[in-house]
Amino acid sequence: MFNLRLEFKLKPTATQIAVFEDSLEQYRKVYNSALKECKDWYNLRKCQINSCSKSSEYIISADGPLPTYSSQCKALITYRKTNPALLRVNATLLQQTGLRLEKSFVSMWEQSQGFHQFKKKGALRSFNEPQLGTTFHQGNRFKLPVIGRIKFWQSRPIPQGAIVKQARVVRRSTGWYIMLTLPWDVSILDTIPHGNPVAIDLKLTNFVATSKGLFIKRTRFFADAERKLKLLQQRVTRQIIGLNNWKRAAEKVALLHEYVANCRKDWPRKLLDQICDDAGIVFVEGLNVVGLSRAMLGKHCLDAGFGQFFNILGHTCFKRGVFFQKVDAKKTSQICPNCLNETVKKELSERVNSCHHCAHTTDKDVAAAQVVLKRGLAAVGHRVKMHRTASKFMGIPAKQESPRLFARECH
Ligand SMILES: [Zn+2]
Repeated sequence: MFNLRLEFKLKPTATQIAVFEDSLEQYRKVYNSALKECKDWYNLRKCQINSCSKSSEYIISADGPLPTYSSQCKALITYRKTNPALLRVNATLLQQTGLRLEKSFVSMWEQSQGFHQFKKKGALRSFNEPQLGTTFHQGNRFKLPVIGRIKFWQSRPIPQGAIVKQARVVRRSTGWYIMLTLPWDVSILDTIPHGNPVAIDLKLTNFVATSKGLFIKRTRFFADAERKLKLLQQRVTRQIIGLNNWKRAAEKVALLHEYVANCRKDWPRKLLDQICDDAGIVFVEGLNVVGLSRAMLGKHCLDAGFGQFFNILGHTCFKRGVFFQKVDAKKTSQICPNCLNETVKKELSERVNSCHHCAHTTDKDVAAAQVVLKRGLAAVGHRVKMHRTASKFMGIPAKQESPRLFARECH
């Protein structure tokens, strides 16, 4: 069972936008009040039992239970009856807001992150629409609870009779979008290593260097837009917060950020089509993306979008039936691809890898990609052997590409 995720741009009317905005505002208020309840409970237990807090005291009893999703949902049902603003929005979606808070608390404990902050006005940008059923999609319109029928740009086909597991409405600076999650009941076998192997080395100078000698320069989407962004941000700071001029200036900043993000998402898709065209196996070095983003050139690493590149690479390989695997990235640029001995440590400015053991000379990035290729082939070698043995045992002819793989591995 797979989850198919589709994204469409909505074409809401002015009334529907007002309903969306109002819904987001009510969800934000409910989220903040639920978070305040949790924060008060924690703050009450900050000071010791025999001392008082310096700033203020809380009126919750000392043995009061921790507010949970179920207890807050019960309280919300009672409170909603007396609050007309909450009656306008879907009750199920209000409860989803509490669930969202509880999930974020769990992730906070598991990932040791800081305490959550209250959401400012306009900070909440999305909400879920659960339980939509099969009649959700009709022609060029979607049927949403409370909103009713809403038009959308059908940029791709939606499977007939698909049951929508979840729909998420998102507000961006360019408009309103809907993201559908459709369960797809198909069984797809794991991709078996076959065909031409290619390894990719990622760097900041040459964004991509393949083991076959293909170089692709890094695009600097954020760095190119930085000057314009600085100008637009200065214009925002010169306006009075909350006025219409401030809103217009802030919207321009948001539009530029979204443009940069879209460019960064679009570019790897076109690039990877070029790489995956004649490849059956793709190896890439498993870089520590979080560590790189906190290092000296972190800003440029984030601009290059290594993490997103890995995600898109994995997805493209899955769609095309190409085997994809990450391999160990340790010392890939300091090992000779010919004799696999460690070479003399090089400066960043040195672009050529020359081995003092076997006198093999090649480009530094290509050498690193070739080391990644050798490591990858060594890792998947046993899987290919197992597949070939199983094919022979079951009477299935092994794939023709496999011997090519071993021929390359031997050299
Ligand atoms: Zn060597």
